[in-house]
Amino acid sequence: MEIKNRPSCAKCGVVACNPDVDVNQGVNINKAPEFCPMKLLPDLLKEAENEYKNEDNREFCRLAAVQEYLCYEHTSDGLRTKNTRVEEIIQLSTKCGFKKLGLAFCIGLKNEARILVNILENKGFAVVSVNCKVGAIEKERIGLKPDEKIMGEGRWESACNPIGQAMILNNEKVDLAILLGLCVGHDTTFIKYCKVPITVLAAKDRVTGHNPLAALYLSASPYYNRLLSKKDK
Ligand code: SF4
Repeated sequence: MEIKNRPSCAKCGVVACNPDVDVNQGVNINKAPEFCPMKLLPDLLKEAENEYKNEDNREFCRLAAVQEYLCYEHTSDGLRTKNTRVEEIIQLSTKCGFKKLGLAFCIGLKNEARILVNILENKGFAVVSVNCKVGAIEKERIGLKPDEKIMGEGRWESACNPIGQAMILNNEKVDLAILLGLCVGHDTTFIKYCKVPITVLAAKDRVTGHNPLAALYLSASPYYNRLLSKKDK
């Protein structure tokens, strides 16, 4: 498929969808590139817009946008940011009237989980927290070979159990599930099974202190430029 036939916002230099103009000037879609989803898939985007007529979607997205607005302040030095993501989660949860929050965390971040639960409880939320090793499913039981265990053959290793984490949070009927440091793929499975709204506090990155974007910021440097090298043909 040629690039002009597939949505490619990441390659757009125009950003006609969010023009820097006064409100009465509106959007000029003609300025958008050929690969713009607004040109390629107008019917689908109309269908998406119609979903905001659903009262739940509309109200939740309205509150999320108000929360976004509240994360900035206009100062004499210009626009400044002011809320951390932890504060954002607390503020949005309060706006939405959430009382009970769920935390699905990685065992490698148990100290961070304890701190977060303490913060959330101090703000008045009831918190259900579930570690990724819940259920104690031996890795061999999901098909791993003994030599594929991190600590080596002969050692017990419980597999991460994102399905168990999701089912417990579903069962507890939490208002919002917060993901903290689940592995790539385990987060995918958690999202597949979780039936309550989800947000992510942190994505696991074992190398960068759970700041995956650090690798992108360093991709032009000698330390991480391997990321930009072309795949061998
Ligand atoms: S929606 Fe269209 S105009 Fe906006 S960033 Fe994507 S390609 Fe560019």
